[in-house]
Amino acid sequence: MIIRKHKSWITLFFLFSTIPILFECESKKPVEEIGEKICVILAHPDDETMVSGTLALLSTKGCDIRVVYVTSGDDGPDETGQGLHGESLAKVREQEAEAALQALGIQQSPIFLKVPDGHVSDRVDDLKDALLNLLADIEPVMIIGFGPDGMTGDWDHTMTGLATDVAFDLTDSGKLLLHMAQTERLIPISETSVFVSELAVDLRVNVADYTAQRVHAFDAHHTQFPRRARIAYKVLAHTRKTEEFIISRNRNAENFLRKYFDAGTLKK
Ligand SMILES: [Zn+2]
Repeated sequence: MIIRKHKSWITLFFLFSTIPILFECESKKPVEEIGEKICVILAHPDDETMVSGTLALLSTKGCDIRVVYVTSGDDGPDETGQGLHGESLAKVREQEAEAALQALGIQQSPIFLKVPDGHVSDRVDDLKDALLNLLADIEPVMIIGFGPDGMTGDWDHTMTGLATDVAFDLTDSGKLLLHMAQTERLIPISETSVFVSELAVDLRVNVADYTAQRVHAFDAHHTQFPRRARIAYKVLAHTRKTEEFIISRNRNAENFLRKYFDAGTLKK
């Protein structure tokens, strides 16, 4: 994970993008339908950590989840001490990402677009076109992606979110686009986490039943997280039991939201 300083205007934009609807998610329901497609568009292997409980929940409910990683994480330090870098590091990180998704119950192999790590901003147009093609192929009902703050202010995250938003707007695929958000820290090692106001959150998912899967998925990233980070995440996952989202685009998706997230409370 590459961490960079965030831009303050991004935070302001995010705060003012409030949609005054709050769904609170409580219990699980039995699977009623199989195969509803969900596409998750991320910048780096390990970014699924920010939404891992929700992915485990949706997987349990029978959703067909496709995760797209724009880069393969080839620009980070190798925390295993083996000195992996470049293509060799990317290859291992792709394997780690697949193992993490399997820990969350996701059957489909991830899709890697292999944009150079740290250089998504150089490829936004190409990325938008690639995402348009993917959305046309997958035809997901719901898309989960980064909002303008990128959760950590990472520029790869922000540019991935921008390309996702544009692709969503240019296609008929997808009823619902959720932006990941956080009011409290979701990742222990990120010193540049960007937090949103409680008022900005539209959807709060209770992931308390998926702590073991979240920890297992995090542990899959040997090259990214040293032992101290994995211990810290284990503590965090046991205390941080919700994941939060902002509803960025909603094309008559209220029934979908209620079906999968058990919206017990709707505030206006
Ligand atoms: Zn990342």
